[in-house]
Amino acid sequence: MQIANIIVDVPTMQTNSPYSYLVPKDLQSSLSKGMRVVVPFGKGNRKIEGFVVGIEPLTNQDPAKLKEISSIMDFEPVLDEELLDLSKWLADKTYAFRISCLLTMLPNVMKAKYAKAVKKNHPLTNQALNQKVSDNLMTLFDDKHFTEKELNQLILMQKKGDVEIEYVVKNEAKSKVELAIQNQINDFSGVRKHLKTNASAQHHLLDFLEKHPKEKLVQKKIIEKDGISPSAIKAFFNKGWINKTQVEKYRNPYNHKLVRDHPKRLTPEQEKAVLEIDQAIKKKKPETFLIEGVTGSGKTEIYLQNIQTALNDGRQALMLVPEIALTPQMVNRVKNRFGNQVAIIHSGLSNGERYDEWRRIRDGNAKVVVGARSAVFAPLQNIGIIILDEEHDTSYKQDENPRYHTRDVAIWRSKYHHCPVVLGSATPSLESRARAGKGVYHFIRLTKRVNQQQLPEVEIVDMTKEVAKSGDIFSEELLQAINEKLTKHEQVVLMLNRRGFSSFMMCRDCGYVLMCPNCDISLTMHLDSHTMKCHYCGFEEPIPNVCPKCHSHNIRYFGTGTEKVEQELAKILPQARILRMDVDTTKRKGAHERILNEFGEQKADILLGTQMIAKGLDFPNVTLVGVLNADTGLDLPDFRASERTFDLLTQVAGRAGRADKAGKVIIQTFNPEHYAIQLVKKQDYETFYKKEMKLRHLAGYAPYYFTVKLTVSSTKEQQAAGKSYEILKYLKTQLSHKTMILGPTPRPIARIKNRYYYQIIIKYKVDKKLSPALKQILQSSQQEARKGLRIAIDSEPVNFM
Ligand code: ADP
Ligand code: ZN
Ligand code: ZN
Repeated sequence: MQIANIIVDVPTMQTNSPYSYLVPKDLQSSLSKGMRVVVPFGKGNRKIEGFVVGIEPLTNQDPAKLKEISSIMDFEPVLDEELLDLSKWLADKTYAFRISCLLTMLPNVMKAKYAKAVKKNHPLTNQALNQKVSDNLMTLFDDKHFTEKELNQLILMQKKGDVEIEYVVKNEAKSKVELAIQNQINDFSGVRKHLKTNASAQHHLLDFLEKHPKEKLVQKKIIEKDGISPSAIKAFFNKGWINKTQVEKYRNPYNHKLVRDHPKRLTPEQEKAVLEIDQAIKKKKPETFLIEGVTGSGKTEIYLQNIQTALNDGRQALMLVPEIALTPQMVNRVKNRFGNQVAIIHSGLSNGERYDEWRRIRDGNAKVVVGARSAVFAPLQNIGIIILDEEHDTSYKQDENPRYHTRDVAIWRSKYHHCPVVLGSATPSLESRARAGKGVYHFIRLTKRVNQQQLPEVEIVDMTKEVAKSGDIFSEELLQAINEKLTKHEQVVLMLNRRGFSSFMMCRDCGYVLMCPNCDISLTMHLDSHTMKCHYCGFEEPIPNVCPKCHSHNIRYFGTGTEKVEQELAKILPQARILRMDVDTTKRKGAHERILNEFGEQKADILLGTQMIAKGLDFPNVTLVGVLNADTGLDLPDFRASERTFDLLTQVAGRAGRADKAGKVIIQTFNPEHYAIQLVKKQDYETFYKKEMKLRHLAGYAPYYFTVKLTVSSTKEQQAAGKSYEILKYLKTQLSHKTMILGPTPRPIARIKNRYYYQIIIKYKVDKKLSPALKQILQSSQQEARKGLRIAIDSEPVNFM
C-alpha cells in the first residue's frame, strides 16, 4: 500500500506540513507528485482540495487510522518537484501558509474553470467507456460525465496510451487542434519514378516530404507558406503515401510581426559585461550580478546576448520585467531576436492562451520566457539565466499573501538550476547596490550611453517663483521649450503623476472637502466621466454643484491632474497633437500598446502621462522630457520617498535624447534644493546612493536594518487598535531588546473600503526570536479572522500607505 503526503487547502500552521492519506488501489499507478486531489478532511470529512507533495510506501503507520484520497483533480502534475520544494521555502520566508504559496504558483488557468477532453486511440475493452468516448474527436467532459471509478480507469488507460486526455478551457476548445499530414513513404526514389514528369505539384510535395520525413506537417501552413497544392495532398492521401492526423494548435497570443533582429556589435562596456555573465552561465555558477547602467547604456542588448549563450548551451532563459503592458518595446526586442521560442506571460491573455503558453513552457517548446512578477514561477526545466530588468521596481513585490519579492525567488531558483541571476537598473534599489558594494552581488557598471550622446541636460525650475508669474501648471521655460520642439518636429514627453482633473474639491465658505464615504481620502474630479472618484475603492458620484454641507455655490477645485493638463495644453498649443496615457485611458486591452505605437509613428507631438510613461520607452525623436510636478512622491510617509522620487525622475529623464539628437529635461518643483532633485540634475546615482545610505544609517532603516510590517485591520476601529496593542505587548515579551518596534499607528490612509488599518513596524538586525514570534501571530491569525480581524505580516515591505 502507498500513502500520499498532501498539503490540504486549510490555511493553518498545522497544514503547512503534509497530511498522510491512503492511495486507493486503482489510483496507485496514476497518481504523482504535483497533482491536485480531493480528500476528506476533519471530523465531518468535508471534501477539500490538496496538493500531493510526496508518495511513499506505507511503513509504520496504521492504515486503519488513515483516510483515503477521494479523487484526482489533475491528469498530470500541475507543479513540478522544484516548485513544490520552493513552496516550502517561500512559506517560511514570507510568513505565509504553504497552501497559499502553492496556489500562487499554480498557473492561472488551473484556477479558472476548465473542462477536460478525452480521445481514444483505439476501441476500448470497457464497453460503457467505449461508448462514452468518441473515436477521433476530443470529447469534452466535466466531472459529472464520468463516474469516479470511470475517471480512475481513464487515467490508467492514459498511462497505457489507450486514450489521450488534456485540459481545455471552456469556450476556447474549438481552435485546439488542426489537421496535419505525415509522410508514410520509405522509398522516395521509387515513388518519384511513379509520378508523371509533368505533375510538378506532386513532385514539389514529394520533395517536401523527403525533407521532412518524420514531422507532422500542418496542412494549412504548408499550403499557405510552402506552396504545397491541396490536390497533390489529396492524391497522395488516396495513394496512402501520407497519413492525416491532428496536431495541437498553439494559439499565438502576441500578434506582433517579427522583424528579424541580429546581435549588435557591443561597446567595450557591454562586451565586458556579456563576457562576465557568459562565464557564469557556462560554468553553471549561481552568481547574482547587478548591472548599474545609465539610461540608454544598452542593458537590453547585454541581456539578449547572454540569453543567446544560455540557448546555445541547450538551456533556457527567464526574463522578468515590471509590467508587460508598459514595456511592449522590450517584449518586441526579445521576440525579434528569438522568434517563436519566446513565450510571453501576460495578464492580458485569455485563459486559453495562458494555458497554451504554460504548456509550451512545460513541454520545453518555449525556451525564453518573458513576464511580470508571477512569471518567476514559470515551469522551466533547465534555466541557464534569470534576468530582472528594472530591478528596483516595486511591482516585483507582491502586495498580498504570500508577500514575496521576485528577486528572492529568482535567486532561489538560480541556486536550484545552477545559473546566474542578472539584476539591471539605472537606479538599483539601495538594498541591491549595498550588496554589490559588499561583494555579495557581482557589480557591473555601465557609465556611457551607447550612442555616444551625453546624458540629457536637466534643468530645475523653482515653481515657488513661477506660480505668481505663470500659474502652477506650466513654467515659462517649459512652455518655451515645448514650442521650440514642436517647430522642429521633435517629440515631447510630459509626466504628471496624478490622474483625473482636479485632486480635491473644497468649499470656499465652510472649508468642507469632499471625501470618499468608504475611505479616509478626498475624491478626485474626473471630467471624462463627470464624476468624483475614489482612487482607492472605486467609489464614484456625480460632481456636486453646491457644497454638500452648507449648500454654498462657492466651491473650488484644487490640484492638477493629467486631464486638466491635457485641456490646458490644447488651449495654449492648439496645433499640438496630444496623447494622454494614464489608468483612465488604458483600461481597455491593448490600449497601452496602441498609444505607444501612435507616438512611435509620430502621429502625436506630445505624450502626456502618469508614471507609466517613465519606463523603458525608447523613441529616437523624443528630445524633451518635462516633469510638471516632481514633488508628488516626496512628502509621502515612507522612508523610501526620496529614493522613489530619484528613481522615477531619473527613469523619465532617460527617455530624452536616446538617438542622435541631444535631449533636454525640465523638472518643475517646489523643492528645488532637495538632494533627490538636485542629484537627478546631475543624474548621479552613485552620489545619491551614498547620501541616502547615510540618512538610512542615521534613521535605522534598510539596508542597515531589516523591516517587518504588521498590519491589523477591521471594520471596527476599536477592534483593530485593540488587537494591534495586544500584538505589541506580545512582541515586547518575545523579541530581543536590540530590536526596535514602532507603533502601532493608524496607517497613513487610516480607512480604506471601510476597514481601519493599524501598523506596527519592526526593525532588526539579527533576532532569532522574531521568526517564531511571527509564526505564532500567523497561527493565531486564523482564529482572529473569524472575528473579522485581518492580520498581515509583510517582511521587507515596500508599501506603507
Ligand atoms: P537601456 O535599457 O540601458 O536604457 P537600451 O538597451 O534600451 O538601453 O539601449 C538603448 C538603445 O541603444 C536601443 O535603441 C538599442 O537598440 C541601442 N543599442 C544597444 N546596444 C547597442 C550597440 N551595441 N550598438 C548599437 N545600438 C545599440
Ligand atoms: Zn460649504
Ligand atoms: Zn474610497
